[in-house]
Formats: sequence, C-alpha cells, structure tokens
Amino acid sequence: MGTETSSAGPLLAISAHAGDFVWRAAGAIALAAERGDPAKVVCLSFGERGESARAWREGRTLEEIKGIRRAEAEAAAAELGAEIEFLDAGDYPLQETPELVDRLVRVYREFTPAVVLTHTLTDPYNGDHPAAARMALQARVLAQAIGYDAPGEPLGAPPVFFFEPHQPEQCDFKPDVLLDITPVFERKRKAMECLPAQQHMWDYYTDLAKRRGVQLKRNAGPNLGLAHDTTAEAYVRVYPQTTGVLA
Ligand SMILES: [Zn+2]
Repeated sequence: MGTETSSAGPLLAISAHAGDFVWRAAGAIALAAERGDPAKVVCLSFGERGESARAWREGRTLEEIKGIRRAEAEAAAAELGAEIEFLDAGDYPLQETPELVDRLVRVYREFTPAVVLTHTLTDPYNGDHPAAARMALQARVLAQAIGYDAPGEPLGAPPVFFFEPHQPEQCDFKPDVLLDITPVFERKRKAMECLPAQQHMWDYYTDLAKRRGVQLKRNAGPNLGLAHDTTAEAYVRVYPQTTGVLA
C-alpha cells in the first residue's frame, strides 16, 4: 500500500437523503470502521419524496416509503460498520431551519467527529444536497463556539470533505483528495445492494470507483505497486490542510 491508513478518529457523514452516503462515501465510512474508528451517518431525511420513485409508482403511502428507506439505509450502514441516525426533516424540499441546525450542533458536540463528510455546496439537480451541506458547515461552526448553548465541549476543527455528486462537472466538483477504498470495495458494493430500488446506481458507482482508482494510481506514482483493481472515492477538501511538513 502506498497510501496512508492510520487512525483518524470518529468520522461523521451528513447525508441529505437515506441513500446518498452509500453511493458517495461508503468506502470512507467502511475504512474508518475497519480501522476501529467510530463511524456515524446522519440522514437528514429518508429521501421519501424525491428519491423513492419506484415506491410511489407502486402506490405506497408516505409512511410506508419512509419505513422502506429507513430499513434500506440501516442495512447499508450495518454493512459498513457505522451507526445511523435519522432526523426525519423531510425532503423535496429539505428545509433549512434553526432547529435542524441545532440538532446537528448537538450531534457534533456529542459525537466529536475528527472528520466530516457531506455534500457539495453546488448541485443544480438537487437543492436538498447543498442545503444539507450549508447546514452541516453552519452547525460545525456553531458547535465550535464556547458560548453556544448545547451540551458538551466546544468542537475542535474537524476537516470537512465534500463527497462526489452524481454529475460532478455541473456541481463544480474538482477532486483534490483520492481515497483508496480497495480493501473495502466489496463492502461498499454490498451496501449499495441494500438499495434495490436504485439498482441502476450499483454499476454506475462501481465504474466510478474504478475510474477514480485509475486516477489515484496515476497520482500516487508508478512505483508504489498499487493493485490493478485499485478503487477510490473522490473528495474535495473544504478547509486548508494544516501541516508542519509539505509532503
Ligand atoms: Zn440525495
């Protein structure tokens, strides 16, 4: 392996809908869990209105659809070794409210993430995704404030990474981090298969992982001996990396 695999501390993924974390960040989540780092997913909604087309066509009720999506996401999180919490804030639209931001502040203060994953701030296809990202960032800042009225100690400065949107070019997504997920790719695939209504996505995100893996190998250099079947997830780092050594 030519890539860094040391412990990073608790990892928090903030997902607008119940499936988003699976397609975009399952590898990072599974890697954290395999290292023994706590991994937690917060789903702001179930994606019950906007990302459950098949269930609506089958004539299911709103409550039934929420239950289906909850069960799928729970199975996927279990496959990855993560805990999962649903805030049931509604989707299409996901409303940005002070109450929802406050709930996220409390998650930060309680879980004390060392790493945060969320959506991009731009997504012309889906307003819920940028809304989730804005709330995730705002809550992180509020959780850092000693005077903010929520239980727990003020949060440090966990780095935030945007995970890859479905159509990256339209979302101004230019990766600056390629995460090697080869050791856990089969777990990602199994987590994806927990979402049978979105079967068309399984191959799309398998192919994407291979393509990002090729790019990872190119950037890692030719002599590191990375496997032919290297797979990766792409991320954008929001805040500057802090370091005493340029490397
Ligand atoms: Zn979504």
